[in-house]
Amino acid sequence: MSFSVSKAEKGLLDYNKVMINPFPYSLDNKRYLTWNYYSLKNYGRKIYKVPLDGPFSCPNRDGTVSAKGCLYCAGGSNAFPELSAADLRLQYRQRLALFQKKWPDGLPLAYFQSYSNTYDSLANLKKIYQPFIDDPDIHGLVIATRCDCLDEEKIGYLNSLSQLKPVWVELGLQSVHDQTLKEMNRGHSYQDFLNCVEQLAKTNLKISVHLINGWMSESEEMMLETARKVGRLPIQAVKLHMLHVLRDTPLGDQYESQAFELLSKAQYTRLVARQLTLLRPDIIIERLTGDGLKDQLLAPEWTIKKVSVINDIDKIMAGEDWWQGKYYEED
Ligand code: SF4
Repeated sequence: MSFSVSKAEKGLLDYNKVMINPFPYSLDNKRYLTWNYYSLKNYGRKIYKVPLDGPFSCPNRDGTVSAKGCLYCAGGSNAFPELSAADLRLQYRQRLALFQKKWPDGLPLAYFQSYSNTYDSLANLKKIYQPFIDDPDIHGLVIATRCDCLDEEKIGYLNSLSQLKPVWVELGLQSVHDQTLKEMNRGHSYQDFLNCVEQLAKTNLKISVHLINGWMSESEEMMLETARKVGRLPIQAVKLHMLHVLRDTPLGDQYESQAFELLSKAQYTRLVARQLTLLRPDIIIERLTGDGLKDQLLAPEWTIKKVSVINDIDKIMAGEDWWQGKYYEED
């Protein structure tokens, strides 16, 4: 026996598919674990990150690993060398004031975002981080860095801080494919990253991983493979980004001399939706696309409309009845 479904009924079926969200770690229509969900479930309110430009450089820019940097990197080398710990506290207070207007009841984290924030001596790291640990109004630290800027001693120190308040370590990886890392001029291998994650996972530190989609030589299958592998690691969060081609970067120069093809919005949103199905369901999805950088952006222009990108991902997830971890498989 077969049934025919009218257009109106078909609309209702689609509507129900959207409304019934089978993903357990969600308070709304999101079919993936958002930072918002994590904040509300664990703290009952918004946790936000106050970004800081610390007095750090990067070994991939200052000549230690390379002088060229990652090809897409728009950061300068050691841009704030004279910045003192007191300046950094002032910077924090100024930026905090803006966030407090938006979320008066929120809990702030101090986010050491620019460059490689563990690329210094242990003695200097202690001077920089201690005042933020001592401040009772700061709920925790987020420290962005590279796997080659963490050793046993530094990890031990950060772990000691995490006994006092939550400490997140944000590691750039971008891809699990060594050929891609080489082409990007990352200056480390996937195995180097894995060794670091293995050390971090033995501690109380929380790990977040950055991934970039859309590198020119990567196929869709390669990007899915990155999600599949990273989704099985002992990490707590991921940030997914589209490759941004920025002015005044080696990649931007290449693009300006000869434009190359990048993922379209439709390709990117579908790819990310598929990647989400491969990630372990308890991994927090901190980002689905990058933002800012409007003035420096050469391509792709569609990335400027971040909300629209996120909405499209949500629509694909609902339309396909996908959710984070639907196709996740343990090793
Ligand atoms: S590791 Fe980060 S700061 Fe260093 S070159 Fe690459 S993107 Fe830039």
